[in-house]
Amino acid sequence: MNPHILLVEDDATIGRSLTGALENEGYHVTWVPSGAGARTVLQVATPDLVLLDLGLPDMDGADLCRELTALEPSLRVLVLTARHDPADVVVSLDAGAIDYVKKPFRLAELFARVRAHLRQAQGSEDERVTVGSLQLDHSARRLWLGSRELLLTPREFDLLSLLAQNAGEAVRREHIMDEVWEPNWNGSTKTLDVHISAIRRKFAQADIPGTPTIIALPRVGYRLDAP
Ligand code: CA
Repeated sequence: MNPHILLVEDDATIGRSLTGALENEGYHVTWVPSGAGARTVLQVATPDLVLLDLGLPDMDGADLCRELTALEPSLRVLVLTARHDPADVVVSLDAGAIDYVKKPFRLAELFARVRAHLRQAQGSEDERVTVGSLQLDHSARRLWLGSRELLLTPREFDLLSLLAQNAGEAVRREHIMDEVWEPNWNGSTKTLDVHISAIRRKFAQADIPGTPTIIALPRVGYRLDAP
């Protein structure tokens, strides 16, 4: 499948030529001239990359960026900016953009950035772990059972993430403490059991078919088993 790029650009000359050039590179491009258009696309698709002009007719590009990345945290937005104020760059990066390119840009430069970011996106695809109906996205730090997103504390997330990466295998108590709490943990490991109970409770509350089971292995640790 060709990577899908959403281009949000109100300047028709730039929009048209950039769409053509990206298509020539083999990308599937959706070009919209406004923030409203971008919202509509995002309702039905998750592009691999968004190229976003900061100066849009209907809203501020940085606001749109903030809105879209809040909606879809794994979304990669590369900002195209004609403005010369370095503060704009800071604002857009704060708004969740991963990078920016200043207009006017050379196509070769833009394409190099696009390729680099798509490679990274591919890398984070590989960071997804699936066990039964459980899906975990490391880069976005999100977890789903089926289509239901589960809200976990940071510690619960790290713990479950470690078990999921080693699904079907015993993960030793000391190893969990080292990885999820702190290296050479000396205190009681009771806190681990408390966190496991909390995760089990959330699993039970969600009540989704295909949920993996956390097995306690006395004197060893825990194992996450696919259903
Ligand atoms: Ca513009």
